[in-house]
Amino acid sequence: MPEFTPTSKARVIAIANQKGGVGKTTTTINLGTALTMRGKTVLIIDLDPQGNASTGLGMAPETRSLTTYDLLVENAAIADVSRETSVENLFLAPATTDLSSADIELMSNSRRVFRLRAALTQLNALPKRVDYVLVDCPPSLNLLTVNAMVAADSVLVPLQSEFFALEGLSQLLLSVREVRETANPKLRIEGIVLTMYDRRNNLSRQVEEDARANLGELVFKTIIPRNVRVSEAPSFAMPVLRYDPSSQGSQAYLGLADEILERHELVA
Ligand code: ADP
Ligand code: MG
Repeated sequence: MPEFTPTSKARVIAIANQKGGVGKTTTTINLGTALTMRGKTVLIIDLDPQGNASTGLGMAPETRSLTTYDLLVENAAIADVSRETSVENLFLAPATTDLSSADIELMSNSRRVFRLRAALTQLNALPKRVDYVLVDCPPSLNLLTVNAMVAADSVLVPLQSEFFALEGLSQLLLSVREVRETANPKLRIEGIVLTMYDRRNNLSRQVEEDARANLGELVFKTIIPRNVRVSEAPSFAMPVLRYDPSSQGSQAYLGLADEILERHELVA
């Protein structure tokens, strides 16, 4: 008789910002790794057809047999799509460019925004109990991002410490509200994390000031600095926490994980 595993609820966090290059994928990979270093089991879902999270975790495109395309469009099981990574307790559901046609394939499906949520109901078929699911979203507020928001408990927004950073944020928050009103009333904002921060740069400080003034408590205390080790790590197919654990970038992502865990343990 199969062993009975009690249903345990993983926390699902969508990492979203419709701007490209703001640190979504970097945050997904490194926050995920940091959470495993704090004893959690994490599943990363690559929901970007560019597959950068998959590449960054060392999964070559030709080895991505079942992908998130199969998950959303072909009813593949999450346990079959998810794979181990080189990081202990970090699993990955990889993506390939196939995923870019998912929105067209799902066009006539009346449940199309619920595909990821439906897939995640089978999470306890994975070999380990998953504590956190991190969904790396594409740089767009398209059907894929909506699927992530519908499946998620919360949305984490990386905000690049650059001019125009706050522009577009209201559009993102509007999408969150829309999803809340239509498909997922419990959706929260996990927080906004400043990325690629350069403390010698006035602009970075100005973005931080503006963000904290306008968004208050939503902005994480932890700031991710611009750090060359962070940008080098993906070409070695590893999280920066593996590539150079003592780097500023690594330490910042551990800090972010701790801040999130602390909040969750307070409300648990
Ligand atoms: P997105 O997923 O939002 O498109 P990425 O995470 O891919 O953004 O980051 C965009 C680029 O910036 C990548 O080349 C990445 O290596 C680099 N990058 C991200 N975060 C940092 C950082 N803290 N310091 C230096 N480079 C970074
Ligand atoms: Mg990305």
